[in-house]
Amino acid sequence: TAKSTQRGQLAWYTPEISRQTHDRVTLLTGLRTAMRAEGLFVVYQPQIALSDRRLIGLEALVRWRTESGEMIGPDRFIPVAEQSGLIREIGFFVLRRACSVLALLHGEGCQGLRMAVNVSAIQFRHPAFLAELRQIIGDSGIDPCCLELEITESIAMEDAVYVRETLDALHGMGIQLAVDDFGTGYSSLAQLKGMAVDRLKIDKAFVCDLDEAGADASIAGVVIQLGQRLGKEVIAEGVETEAQADLLKRMGCPEAQGYLFGRPMPLDDLRAWIRRSRAG
Ligand code: C2E
Ligand code: MG
Ligand code: MG
Ligand code: MG
Repeated sequence: TAKSTQRGQLAWYTPEISRQTHDRVTLLTGLRTAMRAEGLFVVYQPQIALSDRRLIGLEALVRWRTESGEMIGPDRFIPVAEQSGLIREIGFFVLRRACSVLALLHGEGCQGLRMAVNVSAIQFRHPAFLAELRQIIGDSGIDPCCLELEITESIAMEDAVYVRETLDALHGMGIQLAVDDFGTGYSSLAQLKGMAVDRLKIDKAFVCDLDEAGADASIAGVVIQLGQRLGKEVIAEGVETEAQADLLKRMGCPEAQGYLFGRPMPLDDLRAWIRRSRAG
């Protein structure tokens, strides 16, 4: 009816929607400037072995400090960057930084240390992804076996030929693959079996309520057992308390990451963290 059409048209012009559009445009303009003016930087969060708490890896996470000094989190700007395609530039910036920092740390006594980098589905699906990745790895001189790409459940499950071939090519290069935020997507058990990844990363949503819930019934416990059955490594993210770390360890989870062990840090703070952890 005329009325509902009218309502539909009116809805398009609500202050809410124009505010969202305005926010998106402002964010995007700011992001483009930040790319040029070094407003984007990378921080590194430790990943540890639960058996002895030694450092085994790092996750690279992007940060944005605006010209006015405000910090904007990736949860806010990554979606905008994905919509605009700017995510490719940001993604390769993070990869380049992460690989050169890893080369540096390998030379400072952290032999074999792993570096995990988040890859957006948009960046992953782009035809030039593999070539650009090869270039970055070559330039940094790192052993590709120490690089891990964190991909989404949807990419890991996708059976499009192009995606399968890209995953195979990455494995061929020796790169490790982890499914980020595992358990939050919609993968079926049948798909899981054939999934070409090395590691499942338990989402922090399933780690934060570990204290209260019974260990047997917890989703984290199910993922750990699934990993064991399927021959995949498992890492838990978002570990904040000793109780969570202890429970995960008893459930057989080999690796963890979270504020309990270390926050995401700039390189200099990370070096200090590494020195401290070696000392004590
Ligand atoms: P993610 O990859 O699942 O990263 C884990 C998030 O959990 C990070 O948030 C990290 O700072 C946070 N975290 C770590 N330990 C704890 C903890 O003990 N407790 C709690 N509550 N949180 C913890 P961050 O850095 O804000 O990143 C949010 C998301 O943005 C990431 O989730 C990832 O999906 C995306 N992201 C970050 N950097 C990049 C990037 O370089 N490229 C792409 N494509 N996405 C990125
Ligand atoms: Mg991640
Ligand atoms: Mg995650
Ligand atoms: Mg997460």
